Amino acid sequence: MEFFDTVFAGGGLSCLSAARAFRQDFVLLEREERLGGLCRTDRVGGFVFDRTGHLLHLRRREARALVRRLLRGNLGELRRDAWIFSHGVYTRYPFQENFYGLPPAVAAECLYGLFAANLPGRRRRVSPGADFARWARARFGEGVARHFLLPYNRKLWCVSPAVLTTEWLGRFVPRPDLRAAVLGTVSDRQSPAGYNATFLYPRRGGIEALIRALARAIPRRRVRTGLSVEEIDLRGRRLRLSDGSEIGFGRLVSCLPLSELARRTLDLPPSLRREAARLRCASVYNLNLGVRGEPPHRRHWVYLPEERFLLYRFGYASHFSNAAAPPGCANVYTEFAYRGRRPDPAALRRRVLSDLRAAGVIRSAKDVLVEKAFDIPCAYCIYDRHRKRAVARLRRYFEAREVYPIGRYGRWEYGSMEDALLQGLEIARRLQGRRG
Ligand SMILES: Cc1cc2nc3c(=O)[nH]c(=O)nc-3n(C[C@H](O)[C@H](O)[C@H](O)COP(=O)(O)OP(=O)(O)OC[C@H]3O[C@@H](n4cnc5c(N)ncnc54)[C@H](O)[C@@H]3O)c2cc1C
Repeated sequence: MEFFDTVFAGGGLSCLSAARAFRQDFVLLEREERLGGLCRTDRVGGFVFDRTGHLLHLRRREARALVRRLLRGNLGELRRDAWIFSHGVYTRYPFQENFYGLPPAVAAECLYGLFAANLPGRRRRVSPGADFARWARARFGEGVARHFLLPYNRKLWCVSPAVLTTEWLGRFVPRPDLRAAVLGTVSDRQSPAGYNATFLYPRRGGIEALIRALARAIPRRRVRTGLSVEEIDLRGRRLRLSDGSEIGFGRLVSCLPLSELARRTLDLPPSLRREAARLRCASVYNLNLGVRGEPPHRRHWVYLPEERFLLYRFGYASHFSNAAAPPGCANVYTEFAYRGRRPDPAALRRRVLSDLRAAGVIRSAKDVLVEKAFDIPCAYCIYDRHRKRAVARLRRYFEAREVYPIGRYGRWEYGSMEDALLQGLEIARRLQGRRG
């Protein structure tokens, strides 16, 4: 039986980042034929399709330096141009600062609610343990909660906002700014608020360009694709692989979803197995379209909070990179979240096209030249009351046995590509520091 001191399970961004920085003995095992996980890109008829919009919002200097080094000469910097489509009109993102253009009664309800919730002396205290629905109403007022925060998050997470905690919020929901909201009610202004006011994206090759750059820095002989980790025997320190072979390991770094890692671990205590089985996630169905004709505007992406639309978001990949579509065409990505069984693709397609017609993106189905659908079974890890304790217990158990879950799904979190890159670097340092 072969033995490796360190095994990386999964060739997602997080494990690739770790493997690139690793100087000791290791092997990386990836189930698919191609590395990259969610950061893979497919070409169809001159269109370049990511698994939905994958934009680099880099806040940490180390991540910016790494990405710039990896994608030298192939990185564009863009200023966010994001919108919301509701009540039949486009308004600017973030919703809570841009009521301009909404029907007057809706704009008044939102602005009044924001003031009522935030005037000095009237601010409601929100306890740290409050659920998302209470937090949204208390912090942003009834109008913003009713017309955007609650319906949008219900669509995205596929659970009631009262089930969600607020741990995941951090950078994602900008804080209320009353002056900005007044300005954004009387005028159409681009605001720099939010975690993603500017972002980076490869000029060519889609987001997989980042994966290819990382993979070039990892010795080919250390990477095995088309090989999945089927069983993990912690006591015997052995992995059983999909080709029936077994390999021995000293340490395991895994970007498999935490629930999967637990399911495949033979000797996991039953109480932890139960905790892992209760971790929940929302799936995303991403239909990408190559569309004839250039759109009349340069919007990057658009949120659809209303229930009458199936999609929660769509965007234009060809506005991130000219190379994403042939001249005179647009590359449109659409996202629909669901839980449980995936709805019928033909029915989904009809609803997607109908949403896009209503939002003025296409005139008819005849505008669609090519399409490519991706299903992402585990897309958004749900922050319910069970998650925090379960993740902490599972991580503690695994790490005590030298198994290190990393990445968005390994840590069961709302993580970004930046987080995946940095977690990879951090684990590589930690492990090499110990035995290096
Ligand atoms: C809809 C959506 C939109 C997003 N948009 C953005 C964005 O705009 N910006 C941003 O920064 N981030 C975005 N993200 C997050 C980003 O995709 C992730 O943070 C990042 O790709 C996670 O990488 P990872 O290594 O953690 O996991 P993954 O990419 O999930 O990689 C896991 C890998 O493990 C492999 N694997 C699974 N099981 C096995 C097994 N048994 N054996 C061997 N291999 C296995 C898989 O095939 C896969 O390659 C988005 C995510 C989603 C779902």
